[in-house]
Amino acid sequence: MENLYKGIRNVGRMLNVPCPLCGSNRRTPIHKEGDFIMNRCISCGFIYMSPRPDKSFIIKFYQHYLPKNSDEIYKWKKMTEKVFEKAANFIESNTKRKGKILDVGCGFGFFVKEMKERGWEAEGVDLSAYAINFGRKYNLSLFKSTIWDMHYPDDYFDVITAFYLIEHLEDPLGFIKEVLRILKPGGIFLARYPHTTPIKNMLAFFKIKNHLYNMPAHLSDFSPKKIKEVLEGVGFKDVYSFPGGYTKPEGFFPSFITAFLGILGEGIYLISRGKILIPGISKNVIGWK
Ligand SMILES: [Zn+2]
Repeated sequence: MENLYKGIRNVGRMLNVPCPLCGSNRRTPIHKEGDFIMNRCISCGFIYMSPRPDKSFIIKFYQHYLPKNSDEIYKWKKMTEKVFEKAANFIESNTKRKGKILDVGCGFGFFVKEMKERGWEAEGVDLSAYAINFGRKYNLSLFKSTIWDMHYPDDYFDVITAFYLIEHLEDPLGFIKEVLRILKPGGIFLARYPHTTPIKNMLAFFKIKNHLYNMPAHLSDFSPKKIKEVLEGVGFKDVYSFPGGYTKPEGFFPSFITAFLGILGEGIYLISRGKILIPGISKNVIGWK
């Protein structure tokens, strides 16, 4: 995925923004990738990008974010399918019946397809017109929209998912509030998020250059502690993070490393009875309304 962002220079106007969680303007830069800076909020500890491109750049950016040729799309599908299957099993083991599910940032709709095939009333939203049109060829209910522009009624969905989305959002707190509003009481929110800062710190220690933050795509980086604090802060209950499987990137070395860390992460999580999550690798978080 990383090579998609290489060479992005012309991002247009860059805006200084306050912390998206607490509104504080006091921050310390912690990592640089090219021209882009990730900061730690001095007031609440949240890690976020500032300055950042404005909305018009972001909307344009997502028209070209996902791959467009069928080989690349197939690789994308292969890479994510285990994580999707695990998430689907997890959701079904935590729900009594198959109801309405929304996948936000659904991309090509592979997760929507998985849930539809399992008998759920599944729909998805994404900003990428290309990805939405691709998924619609398979008769999926996909919409090119943000979650807000859909104007869903209160208490509408049984489950809402967001895989690798929250780190891309300008207003993650507003997003979580909207998810809570349109979930039914007792409904589930499941999100998958990268947790990159510990790895960045380690690589910086060894002076190894990398683009793991994927700026300007990723505008922030959540830790399990922070995501729990934010979800519980708006009213979600019983929030916890867990490994949730691992993706399968193309190529022997990347897939070996990901599998190794993924299996290690799952193993340590199980042995410690859910107490230890390896820092730095992607995780799922779940919360109940
Ligand atoms: Zn803050």
